[in-house]
Amino acid sequence: MSDGGPGVGLRIGVLALQGAFREHVATFRRLGADAVEVRTPADLTGLDAVVLPGGESTVIDRLLDSSGLREPLVAALAGGLPAFGTCAGLIVLSAAAEDGRSDQRPLGLIDVTARRNGYGRQVHSFEAPVQLDADGDPMPGVFIRAPRIVRVGEGVEVVGTLDGEPVAAAAGGIMVASFHPELTGDDRLHRRFLDRVRVVRAVAA
Ligand code: GLN
Repeated sequence: MSDGGPGVGLRIGVLALQGAFREHVATFRRLGADAVEVRTPADLTGLDAVVLPGGESTVIDRLLDSSGLREPLVAALAGGLPAFGTCAGLIVLSAAAEDGRSDQRPLGLIDVTARRNGYGRQVHSFEAPVQLDADGDPMPGVFIRAPRIVRVGEGVEVVGTLDGEPVAAAAGGIMVASFHPELTGDDRLHRRFLDRVRVVRAVAA
């Protein structure tokens, strides 16, 4: 239970098929949201937003089909459900994935191209400071076989950079990050996502 926080009154579903979903649930709960794990189509009911966590995008892609979630999830997203995709989740939400499996089908919710393992295969993971727009203090970015954002379409806002390169982006109610903001205590990106969810809700109301 939380007696306050930017997430109060929001129900956030975290896709829990595979990957780092528990940390997202914990972060959103800490921010006061009602965060729930999503494994079946019924779990999508009543959500204000959905989170696609890091993990392995080819596995998540396959599990979307076997769980029966792909169709209702796509329908909910098409209906304007806000979504936050981190690492593998970025790949799933992107318009196009380079170096993916040939039958991998990104959902095309945000006009960016993601290159799988785009920071090199030998360097499996690294930590580096991510600069948030309009925020002087960088946040720690944990990159684990991270996708690289190699193209940002028109109308997509870059909200985080690493050495001047985009590593977080957003458009309307969709936000993506190539790193794992849920693995550090810094919840600024989660807070920004909640701000977006509230804007989308206000417009829809
Ligand atoms: N390389 C993984 C993929 O292709 C992403 C890694 C991650 O989510 N940490 O899905």
